[in-house]
Amino acid sequence: MASKIAFQITNVENTFLDPRADFQPTTIKSQVRIDPLTGRTGHFSHFGAIKPQKLDIEKYLEPQIKGFCPFCGDKKNHVTPMFPEGLFQEGRLAMGEALLVPNLFPYDVYSSVVIMTNDHVVSLKNFDDEKLYNSFYLGIDFLKKVKGKSPSIPYQVMAWNYMPPSGGGLVHPHQQYFATERPGNQFTDEYRAAELFYNNHQVDYWTELIEEEHKHKDRYIGQVGDAHWLASFVSLGVLGEIICVFPGVFCIEDFTDAQVRHLVSGVQKVFCYYLENGIYSFNASLFWGAAGQKFFPAHFRIVPRTYLNTRDYAPDINFFQTVLQEPVSVVLPEDLGKEVRPYFIKK
Ligand SMILES: [Zn+2]
Repeated sequence: MASKIAFQITNVENTFLDPRADFQPTTIKSQVRIDPLTGRTGHFSHFGAIKPQKLDIEKYLEPQIKGFCPFCGDKKNHVTPMFPEGLFQEGRLAMGEALLVPNLFPYDVYSSVVIMTNDHVVSLKNFDDEKLYNSFYLGIDFLKKVKGKSPSIPYQVMAWNYMPPSGGGLVHPHQQYFATERPGNQFTDEYRAAELFYNNHQVDYWTELIEEEHKHKDRYIGQVGDAHWLASFVSLGVLGEIICVFPGVFCIEDFTDAQVRHLVSGVQKVFCYYLENGIYSFNASLFWGAAGQKFFPAHFRIVPRTYLNTRDYAPDINFFQTVLQEPVSVVLPEDLGKEVRPYFIKK
Protein backbone atom coordinates (compact mmCIF):
# COMPACT_ATOMS: atom_id res chain seq x y z
CA MET A 1 0.00 0.00 0.00
CA ALA A 2 1.29 3.45 -0.87
CA SER A 3 2.57 5.50 2.02
CA LYS A 4 0.25 8.15 3.39
CA ILE A 5 3.29 10.36 3.97
CA ALA A 6 5.23 11.90 1.10
CA PHE A 7 8.81 13.03 1.71
CA GLN A 8 9.45 15.51 -1.10
CA ILE A 9 12.89 16.88 -1.91
CA THR A 10 13.77 19.30 -4.70
CA ASN A 11 17.45 19.17 -5.57
CA VAL A 12 19.01 22.41 -6.68
CA GLU A 13 22.33 22.88 -8.49
CA ASN A 14 24.34 26.05 -8.95
CA THR A 15 27.31 26.25 -11.26
CA PHE A 16 29.82 29.08 -11.12
CA LEU A 17 33.45 29.78 -11.92
CA ASP A 18 35.12 29.11 -8.60
CA PRO A 19 37.78 31.59 -7.41
CA ARG A 20 39.02 28.88 -5.02
CA ALA A 21 39.75 26.54 -7.95
CA ASP A 22 41.40 28.84 -10.49
CA PHE A 23 37.97 29.90 -11.80
CA GLN A 24 37.12 26.45 -13.04
CA PRO A 25 33.38 25.58 -13.12
CA THR A 26 32.13 24.20 -9.82
CA THR A 27 28.66 22.83 -9.14
CA ILE A 28 27.19 23.23 -5.66
CA LYS A 29 24.17 21.23 -4.57
CA SER A 30 21.43 22.27 -2.19
CA GLN A 31 17.90 21.09 -1.36
CA VAL A 32 14.47 22.38 -0.60
CA ARG A 33 12.30 19.96 1.39
CA ILE A 34 8.55 20.06 1.95
CA ASP A 35 7.31 19.09 5.39
CA PRO A 36 4.98 16.11 4.78
CA LEU A 37 2.51 17.31 7.40
CA THR A 38 2.26 21.08 7.00
CA GLY A 39 3.57 21.66 3.47
CA ARG A 40 5.99 24.23 4.88
CA THR A 41 9.38 24.27 3.21
CA GLY A 42 12.93 24.21 4.56
CA HIS A 43 16.23 24.94 2.81
CA PHE A 44 19.31 22.73 3.18
CA SER A 45 22.58 24.17 1.94
CA HIS A 46 26.08 25.26 2.91
CA PHE A 47 26.57 21.69 4.18
CA GLY A 48 29.01 21.44 7.05
CA ALA A 49 29.88 25.14 6.80
CA ILE A 50 28.58 26.08 10.23
CA LYS A 51 30.21 24.42 13.22
CA PRO A 52 28.98 24.82 16.78
CA GLN A 53 31.18 27.36 18.53
CA LYS A 54 32.87 26.50 21.79
CA LEU A 55 31.35 28.33 24.71
CA ASP A 56 33.43 28.93 27.81
CA ILE A 57 30.55 28.40 30.21
CA GLU A 58 32.69 29.07 33.32
CA LYS A 59 33.02 32.71 32.26
CA TYR A 60 29.35 33.22 33.11
CA LEU A 61 30.33 32.81 36.77
CA GLU A 62 32.71 35.79 36.66
CA PRO A 63 31.10 38.58 38.74
CA GLN A 64 31.30 41.28 36.03
CA ILE A 65 29.58 38.97 33.53
CA LYS A 66 27.20 37.28 35.94
CA GLY A 67 25.67 40.47 37.32
CA PHE A 68 22.39 40.16 39.21
CA CYS A 69 20.68 36.75 39.02
CA PRO A 70 17.18 36.52 40.52
CA PHE A 71 17.41 32.71 40.58
CA CYS A 72 20.60 32.40 42.66
CA GLY A 73 20.74 31.43 46.33
CA ASP A 74 18.15 32.88 48.66
CA LYS A 75 17.26 35.64 46.17
CA LYS A 76 14.75 33.40 44.43
CA ASN A 77 12.68 33.38 47.63
CA HIS A 78 12.55 37.19 47.75
CA VAL A 79 12.54 38.53 44.20
CA THR A 80 10.49 35.98 42.27
CA PRO A 81 6.67 36.30 42.29
CA MET A 82 4.23 34.02 44.12
CA PHE A 83 0.88 32.67 42.97
CA PRO A 84 -2.07 34.53 44.47
CA GLU A 85 -4.17 32.75 47.03
CA GLY A 86 -6.75 30.54 45.40
CA LEU A 87 -4.49 29.45 42.57
CA PHE A 88 -1.85 27.50 44.50
CA GLN A 89 -1.97 27.66 48.28
CA GLU A 90 1.76 27.09 48.42
CA GLY A 91 2.59 30.34 46.55
CA ARG A 92 5.36 28.52 44.71
CA LEU A 93 5.80 24.80 43.91
CA ALA A 94 9.01 22.97 44.84
CA MET A 95 10.59 19.57 44.26
CA GLY A 96 14.23 18.88 45.08
CA GLU A 97 16.22 21.80 43.68
CA ALA A 98 13.46 22.71 41.23
CA LEU A 99 11.27 25.69 42.11
CA LEU A 100 8.25 26.76 40.04
CA VAL A 101 7.19 30.40 40.23
CA PRO A 102 4.87 32.64 38.20
CA ASN A 103 6.61 34.33 35.30
CA LEU A 104 7.28 37.99 36.09
CA PHE A 105 6.82 38.59 32.35
CA PRO A 106 3.89 36.29 31.55
CA TYR A 107 3.15 35.09 28.03
CA ASP A 108 -0.38 33.93 28.69
CA VAL A 109 -3.09 33.46 31.34
CA TYR A 110 -1.06 30.76 33.09
CA SER A 111 2.66 31.33 32.69
CA SER A 112 5.33 29.93 34.97
CA VAL A 113 9.07 29.46 35.23
CA VAL A 114 10.84 26.45 36.69
CA ILE A 115 14.19 27.41 38.20
CA MET A 116 15.83 24.04 37.60
CA THR A 117 18.92 24.08 39.78
CA ASN A 118 20.65 25.79 42.70
CA ASP A 119 23.76 26.28 40.56
CA HIS A 120 23.90 29.32 38.31
CA VAL A 121 25.75 27.49 35.55
CA VAL A 122 25.08 23.81 34.83
CA SER A 123 26.86 22.06 31.98
CA LEU A 124 24.96 19.46 29.95
CA LYS A 125 27.12 16.82 31.64
CA ASN A 126 25.79 17.89 35.05
CA PHE A 127 22.09 17.64 34.23
CA ASP A 128 21.64 14.39 36.10
CA ASP A 129 18.45 12.31 36.28
CA GLU A 130 17.23 14.02 39.40
CA LYS A 131 17.67 17.61 38.21
CA LEU A 132 15.91 16.94 34.92
CA TYR A 133 13.20 14.73 36.37
CA ASN A 134 12.31 17.17 39.15
CA SER A 135 12.08 20.10 36.73
CA PHE A 136 9.96 18.31 34.14
CA TYR A 137 7.79 16.70 36.81
CA LEU A 138 7.14 20.00 38.56
CA GLY A 139 6.31 21.87 35.34
CA ILE A 140 4.03 19.10 34.07
CA ASP A 141 2.34 18.88 37.46
CA PHE A 142 1.69 22.64 37.26
CA LEU A 143 0.15 22.26 33.79
CA LYS A 144 -2.04 19.38 34.99
CA LYS A 145 -3.26 21.48 37.92
CA VAL A 146 -3.97 24.41 35.60
CA LYS A 147 -5.90 22.06 33.31
CA GLY A 148 -7.99 21.04 36.31
CA LYS A 149 -8.75 24.67 37.15
CA SER A 150 -9.29 25.95 33.61
CA PRO A 151 -10.19 22.97 31.41
CA SER A 152 -11.25 25.25 28.56
CA ILE A 153 -7.64 26.31 27.86
CA PRO A 154 -6.71 23.62 25.33
CA TYR A 155 -2.91 23.51 24.92
CA GLN A 156 0.10 23.20 27.18
CA VAL A 157 3.67 24.11 26.30
CA MET A 158 7.08 23.70 27.90
CA ALA A 159 9.76 25.90 26.35
CA TRP A 160 13.43 26.00 27.22
CA ASN A 161 16.26 28.32 26.13
CA TYR A 162 19.59 26.94 27.31
CA MET A 163 22.62 29.25 27.33
CA PRO A 164 22.94 32.67 25.59
CA PRO A 165 23.15 31.56 21.91
CA SER A 166 19.58 30.22 22.34
CA GLY A 167 18.27 33.72 23.05
CA GLY A 168 17.81 32.99 26.75
CA GLY A 169 18.14 36.15 28.85
CA LEU A 170 19.34 34.33 31.97
CA VAL A 171 22.13 31.77 32.12
CA HIS A 172 20.71 30.15 35.28
CA PRO A 173 18.90 27.02 33.99
CA HIS A 174 15.16 27.56 33.75
CA GLN A 175 12.21 26.27 31.74
CA GLN A 176 8.91 27.97 30.98
CA TYR A 177 5.55 26.23 31.27
CA PHE A 178 2.37 27.83 30.03
CA ALA A 179 -1.21 26.93 29.12
CA THR A 180 -2.64 28.71 26.12
CA GLU A 181 -5.23 28.93 23.38
CA ARG A 182 -2.54 30.23 20.98
CA PRO A 183 0.49 27.92 21.04
CA GLY A 184 2.36 29.62 18.20
CA ASN A 185 2.27 29.32 14.43
CA GLN A 186 4.37 26.15 14.15
CA PHE A 187 2.16 24.12 16.49
CA THR A 188 -1.01 25.66 15.14
CA ASP A 189 -0.09 24.72 11.55
CA GLU A 190 0.95 21.21 12.61
CA TYR A 191 -2.17 20.80 14.70
CA ARG A 192 -4.55 21.81 11.92
CA ALA A 193 -2.73 19.66 9.38
CA ALA A 194 -2.70 16.68 11.75
CA GLU A 195 -6.45 16.97 12.24
CA LEU A 196 -6.94 17.01 8.47
CA PHE A 197 -4.60 14.00 8.08
CA TYR A 198 -6.60 12.10 10.71
CA ASN A 199 -9.89 12.90 9.01
CA ASN A 200 -8.51 11.73 5.67
CA HIS A 201 -6.73 8.57 6.83
CA GLN A 202 -8.30 7.61 10.20
CA VAL A 203 -4.85 7.31 11.70
CA ASP A 204 -2.77 9.92 13.44
CA TYR A 205 0.10 11.37 11.43
CA TRP A 206 2.74 10.93 14.12
CA THR A 207 2.13 7.20 14.63
CA GLU A 208 2.25 6.77 10.87
CA LEU A 209 5.45 8.85 10.71
CA ILE A 210 7.19 6.72 13.34
CA GLU A 211 6.26 3.54 11.49
CA GLU A 212 7.46 4.95 8.21
CA GLU A 213 10.73 6.31 9.64
CA HIS A 214 11.37 3.08 11.54
CA LYS A 215 11.05 1.13 8.30
CA HIS A 216 13.55 3.29 6.42
CA LYS A 217 15.88 3.84 9.38
CA ASP A 218 17.62 6.92 7.92
CA ARG A 219 16.13 9.41 10.32
CA TYR A 220 14.92 7.04 13.04
CA ILE A 221 17.13 7.40 16.13
CA GLY A 222 15.72 5.08 18.77
CA GLN A 223 13.07 4.22 21.32
CA VAL A 224 13.22 4.89 25.06
CA GLY A 225 10.22 3.40 26.86
CA ASP A 226 7.13 4.85 25.18
CA ALA A 227 9.07 7.57 23.37
CA HIS A 228 10.35 7.47 19.78
CA TRP A 229 13.21 9.76 18.75
CA LEU A 230 13.72 10.98 15.16
CA ALA A 231 15.69 13.49 13.14
CA SER A 232 13.05 15.77 11.57
CA PHE A 233 12.72 15.62 7.77
CA VAL A 234 12.68 19.44 7.72
CA SER A 235 14.86 20.87 10.48
CA LEU A 236 13.87 24.03 12.31
CA GLY A 237 17.50 24.65 13.32
CA VAL A 238 20.67 25.42 11.39
CA LEU A 239 22.34 22.39 13.00
CA GLY A 240 19.29 20.16 12.61
CA GLU A 241 16.41 19.17 14.82
CA ILE A 242 15.52 16.10 16.85
CA ILE A 243 11.96 15.27 17.86
CA CYS A 244 10.56 12.78 20.33
CA VAL A 245 6.99 11.54 20.00
CA PHE A 246 4.82 9.79 22.57
CA PRO A 247 2.30 7.88 20.43
CA GLY A 248 -1.10 7.52 22.05
CA VAL A 249 -0.47 10.28 24.63
CA PHE A 250 -2.98 12.80 23.39
CA CYS A 251 -3.35 15.12 26.36
CA ILE A 252 -1.44 16.18 29.42
CA GLU A 253 -3.60 14.14 31.80
CA ASP A 254 -2.38 10.99 29.99
CA PHE A 255 1.31 11.89 30.43
CA THR A 256 2.56 9.54 33.15
CA ASP A 257 5.38 9.66 35.61
CA ALA A 258 7.08 6.81 33.74
CA GLN A 259 6.91 8.86 30.53
CA VAL A 260 8.60 11.80 32.27
CA ARG A 261 11.42 9.38 33.10
CA HIS A 262 11.53 8.07 29.50
CA LEU A 263 11.77 11.65 28.27
CA VAL A 264 14.57 12.49 30.70
CA SER A 265 16.51 9.39 29.69
CA GLY A 266 16.26 10.31 26.00
CA VAL A 267 17.15 13.96 26.66
CA GLN A 268 20.31 12.81 28.43
CA LYS A 269 21.29 10.71 25.41
CA VAL A 270 20.88 13.76 23.18
CA PHE A 271 22.97 15.76 25.68
CA CYS A 272 25.74 13.11 25.41
CA TYR A 273 25.71 13.57 21.64
CA TYR A 274 25.77 17.36 22.08
CA LEU A 275 28.66 17.18 24.55
CA GLU A 276 30.78 15.08 22.23
CA ASN A 277 29.98 17.34 19.29
CA GLY A 278 30.64 20.71 20.91
CA ILE A 279 27.01 21.83 21.14
CA TYR A 280 26.55 24.15 24.13
CA SER A 281 23.15 25.70 23.61
CA PHE A 282 19.67 24.79 22.41
CA ASN A 283 15.97 25.64 22.23
CA ALA A 284 13.54 22.93 23.23
CA SER A 285 9.78 22.51 23.56
CA LEU A 286 7.29 19.95 24.77
CA PHE A 287 3.72 20.23 23.58
CA TRP A 288 0.39 18.64 24.46
CA GLY A 289 -2.80 18.90 22.41
CA ALA A 290 -6.37 19.31 23.62
CA ALA A 291 -8.19 16.63 25.63
CA GLY A 292 -10.49 14.42 23.57
CA GLN A 293 -8.61 14.57 20.24
CA LYS A 294 -6.80 11.54 18.83
CA PHE A 295 -4.64 13.11 16.14
CA PHE A 296 -1.85 14.99 17.92
CA PRO A 297 0.25 13.08 20.46
CA ALA A 298 2.61 14.84 22.87
CA HIS A 299 6.00 15.61 21.44
CA PHE A 300 9.31 17.13 22.40
CA ARG A 301 11.67 18.89 19.99
CA ILE A 302 15.19 20.14 20.47
CA VAL A 303 17.23 22.42 18.21
CA PRO A 304 20.92 23.24 18.79
CA ARG A 305 21.85 26.92 18.76
CA THR A 306 25.22 28.53 18.20
CA TYR A 307 26.92 31.72 17.18
CA LEU A 308 28.32 31.61 13.65
CA ASN A 309 31.62 32.73 15.16
CA THR A 310 32.91 34.17 18.40
CA ARG A 311 34.68 37.09 16.70
CA ASP A 312 31.56 39.18 16.17
CA TYR A 313 28.97 36.82 17.70
CA ALA A 314 26.75 36.66 14.63
CA PRO A 315 23.67 34.62 15.61
CA ASP A 316 22.60 31.54 13.65
CA ILE A 317 19.29 33.19 12.75
CA ASN A 318 19.05 35.63 9.86
CA PHE A 319 16.62 36.96 7.26
CA PHE A 320 15.53 33.45 6.34
CA GLN A 321 14.04 32.70 9.75
CA THR A 322 12.92 36.21 10.70
CA VAL A 323 11.35 37.71 7.60
CA LEU A 324 10.96 34.73 5.26
CA GLN A 325 9.92 32.44 8.17
CA GLU A 326 11.94 29.70 6.47
CA PRO A 327 14.22 27.30 8.32
CA VAL A 328 17.70 26.74 6.91
CA SER A 329 19.91 23.83 7.86
CA VAL A 330 23.51 22.89 7.08
CA VAL A 331 23.03 19.32 8.32
CA LEU A 332 21.12 16.65 6.42
CA PRO A 333 18.62 14.90 8.72
CA GLU A 334 19.78 11.49 7.49
CA ASP A 335 23.36 12.30 8.60
CA LEU A 336 22.09 13.59 11.94
CA GLY A 337 20.06 10.41 12.47
CA LYS A 338 23.14 8.28 11.76
CA GLU A 339 25.28 10.33 14.16
CA VAL A 340 22.83 10.32 17.07
CA ARG A 341 21.61 6.70 16.78
CA PRO A 342 24.64 5.13 18.53
CA TYR A 343 23.92 7.24 21.65
CA PHE A 344 20.54 5.53 21.90
CA ILE A 345 22.07 2.07 21.57
CA LYS A 346 25.04 2.24 23.89
CA LYS A 347 24.31 2.36 27.60
ZN1 LIG B 1 21.84 32.35 39.07
